[in-house]
Amino acid sequence: MTDLQQFLRSAAFAARKHRLQKRKDADASPYINHPIEVAAILAGDGGVTDIVTLVGAVLHDTLEDTETTPAELVREFGPVIRDLVQEVTDDQRLPKAVRKAVQAAGAPHLSPRAKLIRIADKIANVRDVAHHPPAHWDVIRRREYLDWTEQVVAGCRGVSAAIEALYGRVLQEGRVALGAARQE
Ligand code: NDP
Ligand code: ZN
Repeated sequence: MTDLQQFLRSAAFAARKHRLQKRKDADASPYINHPIEVAAILAGDGGVTDIVTLVGAVLHDTLEDTETTPAELVREFGPVIRDLVQEVTDDQRLPKAVRKAVQAAGAPHLSPRAKLIRIADKIANVRDVAHHPPAHWDVIRRREYLDWTEQVVAGCRGVSAAIEALYGRVLQEGRVALGAARQE
């Protein structure tokens, strides 16, 4: 199978798994827009061509947010992809605040591919929180979300200068949009 065939197969799988889900923005956008965006950031802005990373990106929320099982990912995509998606999956049994702390503390221990996916995920979410936020989030909550992404990304540094620089620009733009620009 070519890389393109593999990528499109994984995108179709993710689209099927997320088909009934919406993002939290006011328009309730189709969920699949987000994993596609994360893969597009890596390929486009990051120049990433590693197919494992791109497939992992488009599948990154399947274990966390759908009924997809690790065994299913092994069957469809093999153990390397399964392991990568598991790395970027939070333990849903933990309370939300703990989950967020665990994600930040665990970031330095991720594999380089998982770090790339994590940063691109945060780029997409910072843009969304700044410009297409979840309904009913006040500005304080949106700023706190941006601050938390900064902690996670700090633990992921050293994998791609281009992606890390993009995150820095998107964070700064997001803070300006939320009226919390840092004085630098
Ligand atoms: P959530 O984890 O509930 O929601 C954010 C997650 O939802 C994102 O990481 C993203 O995850 C997904 N998502 C779906 N649609 C969107 C969208 N349009 N924009 C952004 N993300 C979207 O948020 P938190 O509980 O972490 O809240 C953020 C901060 O707010 C926390 O740091 C906490 O301190 C604070 N807080 C404030 C509260 C308040 O009432 N003021 C209550 C609770 C928390 P993915 O990419 O995986 O899909
Ligand atoms: Zn995500």
